[in-house]
Amino acid sequence: MPCGDLGAMAPCRRQSWSAPPLIHRCLRCVGLPLLALLLASCADRTAHGRERTVVIEHVTVLDGQGGAALDDRRVVVSGGRIVAVGASASGRLPRGAMIVDGTGKFLLPGFIDMHAHLLFPRCNPDGGAPRFDRALSEKALSAQLDFGITMVRSPATPTIEGLRLRDALNAGRVRGPRAMASAELMNDPTLSDAQLRQIVRDALPYRPDFFKVYARLRPEQVASVTDEAHRRHIPLIGHLQRTSWAQGVRLGVDHLAHSVDWSADSLPPDRRQTYLAAAKTRPGFRSRIDWLEAFDPNGADQTALIDDLARRRVSVDVTLIAYDAKFSPPDEARYRRNPHLRRFPELREDWSRCDDATADWTADDFRRWKAARPKLLAWIRRMSDGGVLLVTGTDLTNEWIAAGEGLHQEFELLAEAGVSPDRILRMTGADAAQALGRTDVGVVEAGRRADLVLLSADPRKRISNTRSIMWVMQGGRIVAKGAPR
Ligand SMILES: [Zn+2]
Repeated sequence: MPCGDLGAMAPCRRQSWSAPPLIHRCLRCVGLPLLALLLASCADRTAHGRERTVVIEHVTVLDGQGGAALDDRRVVVSGGRIVAVGASASGRLPRGAMIVDGTGKFLLPGFIDMHAHLLFPRCNPDGGAPRFDRALSEKALSAQLDFGITMVRSPATPTIEGLRLRDALNAGRVRGPRAMASAELMNDPTLSDAQLRQIVRDALPYRPDFFKVYARLRPEQVASVTDEAHRRHIPLIGHLQRTSWAQGVRLGVDHLAHSVDWSADSLPPDRRQTYLAAAKTRPGFRSRIDWLEAFDPNGADQTALIDDLARRRVSVDVTLIAYDAKFSPPDEARYRRNPHLRRFPELREDWSRCDDATADWTADDFRRWKAARPKLLAWIRRMSDGGVLLVTGTDLTNEWIAAGEGLHQEFELLAEAGVSPDRILRMTGADAAQALGRTDVGVVEAGRRADLVLLSADPRKRISNTRSIMWVMQGGRIVAKGAPR
């Protein structure tokens, strides 16, 4: 891939760099990712190895805050940061800068996936504890960066290994997005108040960014963890079910995972007993269908919940793809036959063998899920219209979600739910940064990290244009070029 194909890299084009035969051979065997990195270093480093100032001229900036596009901007990047965003042709260009012609292009903050587990568990058909595959996880992280994801939040991994991988990403020792991560999730309903508090204290040496409570915890247990974590000023993520969302936010949970809580308490009172009876005869994920059929997204309790979520600024990572990928019929091409999963043959095999959530579903179950699914989309739209702090997430490591591409599929699902492209870009930009408590990412403005994506097509016209990636910049360096394959 010659520099000229990558678009508008003026210094790169001027160079008459030609690879000697050995390098040609090497590039053939190591493939395009390394080639992209080599080209990146040719583009953004001076002959002395110092990072070169980069100026992106005449570009349309979609700054991640969901407001109007900023046309014909000049964006100056130096020292890993955005140092200026102004009108093009305003003042002199910095000497020695690499000039990128952004005419007709779109500059966005790097995308943020708020629900991407860092470590992949592998299938263990004999049962027992999952084995986490570091090499596979690194391959997935690299793919995420290629798809423009420059920051992830990992809501739970094994405490020690997961938080060490986070540290390696943030130190640049592993290629991938920068990361924030929770300690191991808590899900044992038999744990006492003292035991839960001890789990929180034991994780502290590894500096978790979050703690996470899971579906089986009772409200009083959620209260114990919340209290112990908040004493350390560490926020809490709730993948709640037994404790409903309405209860959880009153207890102080800061962030909610997934679109709904699947809790019987969140159904209309006259539907709860019927649902609970059905759930007993239809265990596993089939009961999700019964729940969604009984759910009323327009009910008074749900309106009150939306008001509460919005008022308390509790974030919700929507992860529509986690349901779509899991509950789509096996012949649905978008997931099980996703060409981006070809990079992960081991996962396709694992998911077929060990993680088929719908193995016991009948044709009628798939039909009922499809019929009820619009309610889920309507609920997302209601939360969006009601001012809830929605953010984008995939639940990566779950079955049939392709690393990197999954977030773009999530954008498309949000658009299908009726969320505007501007709002989707804000969800993965400024709103995600706010939910992370970060003021250095998520927005294209002076002072923030130069984590940027340059697109060739306007994502406001068609959200799938987020895939038209020309390059990805991380900390001021171009780390990936071209639309990922
Ligand atoms: Zn998850």
